[in-house]
Amino acid sequence: MDIDYQIKFSKRRTITITVERDRTIVVKAPAGTEPQKIAKIIESKKLWLYEKLKNEQKYPETQQIKEFVSGETVLYLGKRYRLQIEKSNEEKIRFAGKFIVAATTADRASQVFKDWYKKQASIKILERVNYYARNLGVQYNQIFISDLKYRWGSCTPKNNLNFNWRLIKAPMFVLDYVVVHELTHFLESNHTPHFWTIVETQVPGFRKARQWLKENGVLLESEF
Ligand SMILES: [Zn+2]
Repeated sequence: MDIDYQIKFSKRRTITITVERDRTIVVKAPAGTEPQKIAKIIESKKLWLYEKLKNEQKYPETQQIKEFVSGETVLYLGKRYRLQIEKSNEEKIRFAGKFIVAATTADRASQVFKDWYKKQASIKILERVNYYARNLGVQYNQIFISDLKYRWGSCTPKNNLNFNWRLIKAPMFVLDYVVVHELTHFLESNHTPHFWTIVETQVPGFRKARQWLKENGVLLESEF
């Protein structure tokens, strides 16, 4: 199936795709954006678009696609940092109060960022899990950092833990909340008042964290 869409060019810096209530797809793009590039973006958002077209729409839904250019910002641990594109051959992303990326990797930006995020997520989440597991007196078997769909974390009866690597974009207290939530399930499998009391002893601001996830969950789904 081909996807039909309208393109509206204007003086803007980002590209957005909106599925209107009547299911027309509108792409807003900076003036001068190559149609081929837009076609590529539509292709990469195909699943999301099919999903939106299939279901009844109450409101228009929009996805923002960030341009991989200097001055753009990148989300990391709840803060936005500037992106600097450099002329170098270095394959890695460097983080020093800003993100420095080689121009040669620009066309693979989302993959490069995903790899970087995943690596940071593994380091940070492992560290937090160890800290809170000790606090709660629980033991886990294995931790997996993966591409969970629509979930931030989960645990299995064999005491394995799964976390969404996208949590690395959230503030630390939110990441801590998700870690504590899953570890608390080792003590109490249901969301009983007792469960929340345990969570609160470890993360007193857990209600704020839940609210944050509710409001910003979509944000974490963006590419960077
Ligand atoms: Zn739960």
